[in-house]
Amino acid sequence: MNYAFDFSKYNNIAVFPHSSPDGDAIGSAVAMSMYLREIGKKSIIVIDDEIQYELRFLLDYTDFIGYDEAKKLCNDWDLCVTVDCGDLDRIARRKDLVEGKPLLNIDHHVTNPNFGDFNIVEGDAPSACEIIYFILKENAFDITKEIGEAIYTGMSTDTGNFMYENVRVQTFEVAAKLLSIGIDKAKIIYNLYQNNRAEKIKIHALAMDKITFHCDKKLAITHVDEKMFEETGASVLDTEGISESLRDIEGVEVSCFIKEKTLEDGTLQCKVSMRAMIGHDLSKIASDFGGGGHKAAAGFTIDEGKDRVKELLLEKFDI
Ligand code: AMP
Ligand code: MN
Ligand code: MN
Repeated sequence: MNYAFDFSKYNNIAVFPHSSPDGDAIGSAVAMSMYLREIGKKSIIVIDDEIQYELRFLLDYTDFIGYDEAKKLCNDWDLCVTVDCGDLDRIARRKDLVEGKPLLNIDHHVTNPNFGDFNIVEGDAPSACEIIYFILKENAFDITKEIGEAIYTGMSTDTGNFMYENVRVQTFEVAAKLLSIGIDKAKIIYNLYQNNRAEKIKIHALAMDKITFHCDKKLAITHVDEKMFEETGASVLDTEGISESLRDIEGVEVSCFIKEKTLEDGTLQCKVSMRAMIGHDLSKIASDFGGGGHKAAAGFTIDEGKDRVKELLLEKFDI
């Protein structure tokens, strides 16, 4: 894999994690932007979403701006970098800001069509953060404690804390290197996994109560809707992890978690998060519905109510 990229020609660089950013998206954006500042560049991260509670500790590491502020600054950028984005639509309306500028695409989705002018896309990498580590090493950079913590965050969240099949020998080697430079692993783990909001636990409980099993109990489906958010006081950010809990039930091979909401014009819309054990390829199914992802974790958004979405999923799965 070629991780080489020469940043020397560029001086003002904007970094874009995907919409509804997860630990890997925020971790890789923070690591990349901090690195660019360390080597003397101007750099900023552009986000357009609320950040999950678990990841907010990373907001203190560097600077983030929203869409409106970015709109004012974007003419001065000479390079844009997307991280953890399987396709350019994953940055949603921020696509306007990138238009006409050289684009570096750093990603690990097998479905990535190499949409950048420059592409460092490694489908075998378990996280974009792991790729960032190798890019920084390729550029002979001594990774700082803070950059290491950002990288470790994404490596942990995209691998179920080093649990999934996608974890490779290098993943542990990188993690070991990061520990050896003195990153605060306890702080990362506390923030990510040991500081759950009560509202989160309550909406998880409601979702667990609604599980239905199909295909000889190999497929588990559940949902949350607006009523459940009202009842628990949870935010949509608190639903992170529900699809994983379903997948981890005895006998279950594939889980689907449906989040339903009503759009301003009254249309019902669902975001579907799918997870699978080894031997399935969810990225294909997600692509059929206009989404994408990995074999073991994929998703899509569809303008239908939850009952119809469940029917569509049941037609699709033959496991
Ligand atoms: P999620 O279930 O939202 O955590 O997403 C799981 C995986 O599917 C991630 O790797 C995403 O990149 C991918 N994914 C989720 N939603 C979409 C979408 N609407 N379009 C493309 N990829 C998606
Ligand atoms: Mn991601
Ligand atoms: Mn990722």
